[in-house]
Amino acid sequence: MKPDERDKYSRQILFAGIGEAGQDALLGSSAAIVGCGALGTVAANLLVRAGVGRLRIIDRDFVETSNLQRQTLFEEADASDALPKAVAAERRLRAINSGPQVEGIVADVTPKNAIELLAGFSVILDGTDNFETRLLLNDAAISLGIPWIYAAAVASYGVTMTIRPGDSACLACLLEGAGSDNGHANASGVAAMEATCDTAGVLNAAVGVIASIEAAEAIKILAGKTEALNGRLISCDVWTGKFQSIGVARNPDCRACARREFVYLAGAAQPHITMCGRDSVQIHERHRRLDLAELGRRLASASAAEVRNNDFLLRFRVAPYELTVFADGRAIIKGTKDPAVARSLYARYVGA
Ligand SMILES: [Zn+2]
Repeated sequence: MKPDERDKYSRQILFAGIGEAGQDALLGSSAAIVGCGALGTVAANLLVRAGVGRLRIIDRDFVETSNLQRQTLFEEADASDALPKAVAAERRLRAINSGPQVEGIVADVTPKNAIELLAGFSVILDGTDNFETRLLLNDAAISLGIPWIYAAAVASYGVTMTIRPGDSACLACLLEGAGSDNGHANASGVAAMEATCDTAGVLNAAVGVIASIEAAEAIKILAGKTEALNGRLISCDVWTGKFQSIGVARNPDCRACARREFVYLAGAAQPHITMCGRDSVQIHERHRRLDLAELGRRLASASAAEVRNNDFLLRFRVAPYELTVFADGRAIIKGTKDPAVARSLYARYVGA
């Protein structure tokens, strides 16, 4: 450890659970965060300040004003510039701590790219907002043998659980264990979590608690202190003040961690069009890169209103819709829940 690092992290080194050996391990470690919304920004901030060696942040979305209440790495200018979250987060994190190697990737994690994006990391943190992607992360992490930390928060409530392939229950044990006590308890828990931040709202404090527990678990793994992992499904409600932790048993017949049937990774469950928050549809069926400048000129001459672009995306309004197109060919269409409408707008304005 360099002298400036010993000073920078002195309060963490003083903590007996970490010590100098733990900090050394942390400085040489790596983490990937999938989804850089509320949970992802809080966890990324904590890991970078703690001195993780390398952090990769993967996010498909851009910053909007309604994010700022809880997504603590972003500011008003990021929203007005419509910066991708991965780009804005990388800039901010580098300014916070120049030590860690921080890399923001603007992408949707899919069955096609999950292994490539996540291989080689010491831990994966869940910052996503849907169970489809979480089950894909679960498949990817188990197939790679990488621990990952499930986390979710909505309204005043959140849950988190650390998954160590081969040692602990996995997300499929928790969600898919029909008939078991786990499965029974989970059916209601999952239904509750199916409410999203877009429909039920979310308190920034609920996110802060869950993301902080998630970051603490990640730091234990990265500092080589796995004996300190809590090993339980932790939930809390910051409004009622109710905290719970329950043990989750492994399902000996689990589709993912026992039978190693990675159906989400195989892509069977991944549609080309997905709902993306309230009143938005994402199209990600195209795999060629778009020339955003050329598309911008074309749209301007085709009289699409309010064409705006930056280096990463292009946005335009076709009342009552708003289309945001990324360089990788993805598009988020706001103002509809109907995949057919989204597909037709995409074909008409971006290309068939
Ligand atoms: Zn399992």
